[in-house]
Amino acid sequence: MVAKGDMLYAWASTEEGVKKGECGGAVTALLRHALESKMVDGVLVVKKGADIYDATVEIVTDPADVEKGSGSLHCGTLLLSKILTKYLGGGNGMKLALPVKGCDTMGILELAKREKINLDNLYLIGLNCGGSVSPVDATKMIRERFGTNPDDVVKEEIDKGQFIIVTKDGGHKGISIDELEDEGYGRRTNCRRCLYKVPRQADLACGNWGVIGDK
Ligand code: SF4
Repeated sequence: MVAKGDMLYAWASTEEGVKKGECGGAVTALLRHALESKMVDGVLVVKKGADIYDATVEIVTDPADVEKGSGSLHCGTLLLSKILTKYLGGGNGMKLALPVKGCDTMGILELAKREKINLDNLYLIGLNCGGSVSPVDATKMIRERFGTNPDDVVKEEIDKGQFIIVTKDGGHKGISIDELEDEGYGRRTNCRRCLYKVPRQADLACGNWGVIGDK
């Protein structure tokens, strides 16, 4: 029996799910299970729009579509508390599961205190977050500092203190975030001073920080 505060290693139960997820696919598998078991009516996924600099949202109701939100997007700067209140009636219309960063969680909790968001209808899966880069600044940084055409980048990640890009020809390049930020590039200033990188107030807090062995 699992108790509140327990910490577990988790990953998707299918090989494909493990491969598609950023770190083993546990979050996608949990969101998919919430939908399949009818715990929720829909999952609010954050997914790639036109390219990696364009984060968009979609409510999916088919469990097969949950994987649209697999993987991370550090160059999109959506705030889900705003999406919930502005476009989704504060979560009053349907039961939703959604992945949340620390700032999403803080916004959601504050708006719930003001009765603008209905927490009873939300199932929050917290994600550890090292920060995000504004889309315009990201393309500038990739062009000027990585010497790469931003349109050629198909994936980016922040890992072990590095901002890493993957290009469509399969190339990888990583530069230390400290180095980038000393030079005026890197994460948004609010992310640099953020103290809530592991959203423990979500229903579950997931992430790869502190993991020993393969992620
Ligand atoms: S570092 Fe903090 S403020 Fe920045 S995106 Fe992550 S949770 Fe939000």
